Amino acid sequence: MREKVPVVNPKMVTLAREARGMTQSELATRLQITQGVLSKIENGLVQAPVQILEQLQSELDFPKEFFFQSDSIHGVGTDNFHQLYRRRKALPMKAMRRIEARVNIVRMHTGRMLRAVTIEPGHGIPKLDLDDFDGNVERIAATLRASWLLPNGPVENVVKCIEDAGGMVLPFDFATQQVDATSLRYGDMPPLMYYNQNLLGDRQRFTLAHELGHMVMHSVVPNADMEDQADRFAAEFLMPAREIASQLSNLNLQRAAQLKRYWRVSMGAIIMRAKTLGKLTSNQSQYLWMQMGAAGLRTREPPELDVPVEQPRLQRELIDLHLKVLGYSVDELCSTLAATPRDFAELYGGSIRPNQLRNLTSTERFGSANVVGLHLRK
Ligand SMILES: [Zn+2]
Repeated sequence: MREKVPVVNPKMVTLAREARGMTQSELATRLQITQGVLSKIENGLVQAPVQILEQLQSELDFPKEFFFQSDSIHGVGTDNFHQLYRRRKALPMKAMRRIEARVNIVRMHTGRMLRAVTIEPGHGIPKLDLDDFDGNVERIAATLRASWLLPNGPVENVVKCIEDAGGMVLPFDFATQQVDATSLRYGDMPPLMYYNQNLLGDRQRFTLAHELGHMVMHSVVPNADMEDQADRFAAEFLMPAREIASQLSNLNLQRAAQLKRYWRVSMGAIIMRAKTLGKLTSNQSQYLWMQMGAAGLRTREPPELDVPVEQPRLQRELIDLHLKVLGYSVDELCSTLAATPRDFAELYGGSIRPNQLRNLTSTERFGSANVVGLHLRK
């Protein structure tokens, strides 16, 4: 029997190009071919000749194996500034495509690495139908808190809650301040939440709670109000009305700062919460926002009140597991992922310890305590 000759997956050509933030015409110019030819290659009408494949590798800096992968590619929506910071400026299409491409690549990498392990599903991230709750978003947030057995008071660690429930939280370089997060849930992969790695802690927590709201409420049926609903979910998840309402009377900035320390959300989120719960009139809330603006707090709240950024662990453990337990060298892992070492370092630099980029020996072993949620597939 003859081995089937691998063929270039045209979608991977598009993916590689978009991941590098290039338009078809820009890439065609670099390859010294017409855009028409490139377009036909990307649409699978013609096979990329060997010489062009080699040029694609070097111009786009992807290893050859990348172009032969058979994965499907998914469109992703991204979450811009949530309501609190709404000043939506549409992201240029090219930047959007670059994000989509890189989100897909990380998803493919994660899928490859997950082949070796199973993740403990924990309580799971349920899908709750808004209709079953008569559209009461707050009741959904309360139900989730209860089903995850979260105690009263602030959520200790949002990232940990999500990862304990079997989701993966991924720090991600969106290359823009305009996008906070995006999430993917499909197939047999764990739900993936990508968040902007430059977010401050309060914003990271709110953003992830917002994404969690999408996962719980909007996985099946998206709707026109979903952004607002996800914000309401996040507010109730992080600051249950039952507990916080009585603390919001006579709110001023000093009090908002105290409450920020306790609830680990921004002062802005506290003011919004007070307004939503009827503890501030429109005028009072406007006045507080004016004071926030005058003190420069709308752009940056006082550093001494900073909420610690939460550190996800699953991605890091997945990489550690390959490098240490399974004895992969960085080069071997890169080749498994069809990634260049440079991309690997760029995408996962935050998730690997610097010394791991040097070659590791397979004799370095982990105690099982370091890989709590991950189990090697038997
Ligand atoms: Zn959203």
